[in-house]
Amino acid sequence: MTSHRLVDLLGNPEQYSKVKVKGWVRTFRANRFIALNDGSTIENLQCVVDFEQTAESILKKINTGAAVEIAGELVESMGKGQSVEVLVKSIEILGEADPETYPIQPKKHSFEFLREKAHLRVRTATFSAVMRIRSVLSFAIHQFFQNKGFCYVHTPIITGSDAEGAGEMFRVTVLDPKNPPIDEEEGVDYKKDFFGKETNLTVSGQLEAETYAQGLGNVYTFGPTFRAENSNTTRHLAEFWMIEPEMAFCELEGNMDLAEEFIKYTLNHILEKCEKDLAFLDQRLANEEKTKPQHERSPMGLIEKIKFVVENDFKRISYTEAIDILKNSKPNKKKKFEFLIEEWGTDLQSEHERFLVEKHFNAPVILFDYPAKIKAFYMRMNADQKTVRAMDILFPGIGEIVGGSQREERLDVLEKRIEEMGIDKEELWWYLDLRKFGSTPHSGFGLGFERLVLFATGMGNIRDVIPFPRTPQNASF
Ligand code: ATP
Ligand code: MN
Repeated sequence: MTSHRLVDLLGNPEQYSKVKVKGWVRTFRANRFIALNDGSTIENLQCVVDFEQTAESILKKINTGAAVEIAGELVESMGKGQSVEVLVKSIEILGEADPETYPIQPKKHSFEFLREKAHLRVRTATFSAVMRIRSVLSFAIHQFFQNKGFCYVHTPIITGSDAEGAGEMFRVTVLDPKNPPIDEEEGVDYKKDFFGKETNLTVSGQLEAETYAQGLGNVYTFGPTFRAENSNTTRHLAEFWMIEPEMAFCELEGNMDLAEEFIKYTLNHILEKCEKDLAFLDQRLANEEKTKPQHERSPMGLIEKIKFVVENDFKRISYTEAIDILKNSKPNKKKKFEFLIEEWGTDLQSEHERFLVEKHFNAPVILFDYPAKIKAFYMRMNADQKTVRAMDILFPGIGEIVGGSQREERLDVLEKRIEEMGIDKEELWWYLDLRKFGSTPHSGFGLGFERLVLFATGMGNIRDVIPFPRTPQNASF
């Protein structure tokens, strides 16, 4: 008999009688009741052991964390808490787990503790639910774009260009750090390095995606992205996954429409496909909220929040309107913001974004037309010569989830911006070529996958929605 997955057994129990299951023991109670989980579902399967028929040497090894194979009969359960259970006919211990040293015991562990046991934390209900949702979400992302005829492009991970010009990159080199070759100016001679030049891990696939959009029309990338930013926040990772669509013949409005439709599609998808995991995480969040003081509690539960985003229009306002709202806001007037909004042109801090989203509009917000000074060189200049066609999508509890723009397609304007910002034009010769040959109005955005997973799971820290987080001072596992 091949073994059965718990998700199938528990989904259609009437179709099964004799069953074989393999999984890990979550708990073993009264020398009789095993709560078994195989990772296919949040639900455990109760397996009832007849301890009089089972060797003492086996019973001793049915410990939390042990891997077992069980054959038996699936029957209606008499007990509370489950509708069916397995009457165990035979049990084999496939892998023992020493109760003295196995760290994931059936009690509440803090997420900090579990981060140090990242190789075992997926055996908890919370992390397995998060990782299943992560998987379903990534598939939904491909489905959304594939349904729309977008072409999936694999942009390079090692790059010779710095897309953002921000310089927060991880260098890729094979040179000996103790004894690098030196050039005439006493600097490290990267001509002698593997690629014959300085190279880094990519901070964004955008520039390369743009080149492919200018031949394939609509494209997207979905891959790992690296930023050596020393921001120890609950929303930043040094290695994260980013989804970046890029569309030829598309202006900012089309870009905003696509981003909104995209987010709603993927969230709606998990509402349909991940009901049980979401119900579990909803309850987890509700319990966590109860430990907070009343005024800090979120007025909505997790599923309610996801439905709210799926069912309501995002609010679209310009940066200039946002500044007016913030200037006249209570926290600004009462000097409650850490960074007070005094004049047009300043970058918005997370506290401002949160005010707009969580207090003022109480909905996701798309902010557009930002001052050129605070945005990247490739964003299209508006007729006012002050603002660019940028758009950021801000989410409750998360802040920025999407950053995008209409790209500058006019060669002369782009060259001027590159010069003004002191960027090396030679390095971008291929990017400028796109504006010389068949240039089109085009747009795109980047969505940080883990921020979407954060929102979708109600977790509080981005380190808990990726299997092995990379953050400053931490690259274990
Ligand atoms: P932030 O202001 O939050 O640092 P950003 O302006 O640097 O974001 P972009 O360069 O526009 O972000 O990147 C596009 C998207 O990638 C962001 O909207 C966000 O969802 C995600 N993102 C950016 N940096 C990180 C990071 N360090 N970890 C996880 N996701 C990130
Ligand atoms: Mn950033």
